[in-house]
Amino acid sequence: MSDAEDQRRHVVVVGGGFAGVGATRRLAGRDDVRVTLIDRNNYHQFQPLLYQVATSQLASSDIAYSLRKLFAEDENVAVKLAEVETIDAAARSVTTTDGDVIAGDAIIVAAGSQPNFFRTPGAAEHAFPLYSLDDALALRSRILGVFEAADRDASLIDQGALAFVVVGGGPTGVELAGALADLVAETMAEEYHDLAVSSVQIHLVDLGPTLLGPFSEDAHEYVAKILGRKGVRMHLGVAVTEVGAGHVTLADGTAIRTRCVVWGGGIKAPPVAGALPDAQGRGGRLAVSSDLSVAGAPGIYAAGDIANIPAPDGSALPQLGSVALQSGVHAANTVMADLTGEPRSPFHYHDKGIMAMIGRGAAIAEVGPHRHELHGAIAFSAWLGVHAQLMTGVRNRIDAFVSWGSDYFSKRRGPQILDHTDAAEIDWDEDPAPPLAAAGHPQP
Ligand SMILES: Cc1cc2nc3c(=O)[nH]c(=O)nc-3n(C[C@H](O)[C@H](O)[C@H](O)COP(=O)(O)OP(=O)(O)OC[C@H]3O[C@@H](n4cnc5c(N)ncnc54)[C@H](O)[C@@H]3O)c2cc1C
Repeated sequence: MSDAEDQRRHVVVVGGGFAGVGATRRLAGRDDVRVTLIDRNNYHQFQPLLYQVATSQLASSDIAYSLRKLFAEDENVAVKLAEVETIDAAARSVTTTDGDVIAGDAIIVAAGSQPNFFRTPGAAEHAFPLYSLDDALALRSRILGVFEAADRDASLIDQGALAFVVVGGGPTGVELAGALADLVAETMAEEYHDLAVSSVQIHLVDLGPTLLGPFSEDAHEYVAKILGRKGVRMHLGVAVTEVGAGHVTLADGTAIRTRCVVWGGGIKAPPVAGALPDAQGRGGRLAVSSDLSVAGAPGIYAAGDIANIPAPDGSALPQLGSVALQSGVHAANTVMADLTGEPRSPFHYHDKGIMAMIGRGAAIAEVGPHRHELHGAIAFSAWLGVHAQLMTGVRNRIDAFVSWGSDYFSKRRGPQILDHTDAAEIDWDEDPAPPLAAAGHPQP
């Protein structure tokens, strides 16, 4: 049947993350609608576990699932591997970078976020973001690459080979710093016999006065204590002013020689949001009504990270997997209401709480409407439960995830595979001796 003969309404979904998959699943199996799900990757990636891939605790296949496989049994869903360049709100169509135009009766924009370097000089060129599977694999190769280089030539330690700088004290930065410290203590110390692994330094930098800002004061103390115990050096209340090929400088004058800067310093809307400039608000994200329709663009809806979704107190809901999944499902409900002439309903977010893992054996969770605080194994159980639920929003089988989770908390160690050799390659002659101790802070 040609598209023209097909009487079913056509919904185009841009992005196969939590929001896009949630929306598509909601529409899958219907006989009055067909869906084209477009993603620039042929897989859905489970971002909460990217740092586990970056620190060699999980393989990429553990956190990425084929989008085609997810919808293989849904005859009304077509998955297309393409990058959407622009959206024409009036024509209700999207154009891909290959020039293909795909028009629909409705478009759900669910293209996520991208890292925000806040115009920090050198950050976009030299720092490693952690937002996609590609990012995680590149970072893993760089981490392994500096260990291999220092193992061959110990003098590179003076050039920052074993100094790691994590920028951003939110969940991404905290989880990565904790996992990196575990990797060093448990795996590298055992496997690099000729290397002074005790020379490793892990720095965690944040502009704010505490780590995990949105959590309670007790949580701030807990996370600082756990990371301190793991040997992570914290630089709080200070901005990163520059990232070079071989160093990082901070606003207080500290200069750190390093070949591995991880950027967890913030996110903003991806470029495709710019196609709807009239709807762009804070962070470049799309303003949506409570039913997730994009203001001033009939037939266009947005869900997940890319949308500023109104919260009951007038603020916007946070960029979280559970917000994305639930809002994706709701956007699909609104689309169907519009296509069938039913009344729309507002989106209500069922808040599961906020949580973070701080390396093996430590986690923090604030659950329920009163943000009841949990630490340690019980917080990890809450983390596992919420993330297992997120995963079931995407695929049916999650037993491997749950068994991984239990193993991870107590004992698991992953393979250290150096596969992105370009990221592991370092030009040690570039920026070999940056100006250090500018304000009396000698560093490695
Ligand atoms: C490191 C990290 C850790 C996190 N940890 C947690 C956590 O523990 N718990 C939690 O709840 N949340 C966590 N989050 C946040 C959570 O992952 C996001 O809120 C969620 O993934 C947003 O879902 P989304 O569908 O809106 O976007 P995404 O999951 O980012 O999906 C967007 C999709 O759109 C595709 N895309 C983008 N642009 C285009 C284009 N132009 N054309 C075609 N396709 C495109 C992308 O390839 C991607 O598949 C974490 C995020 C990160 C980065």
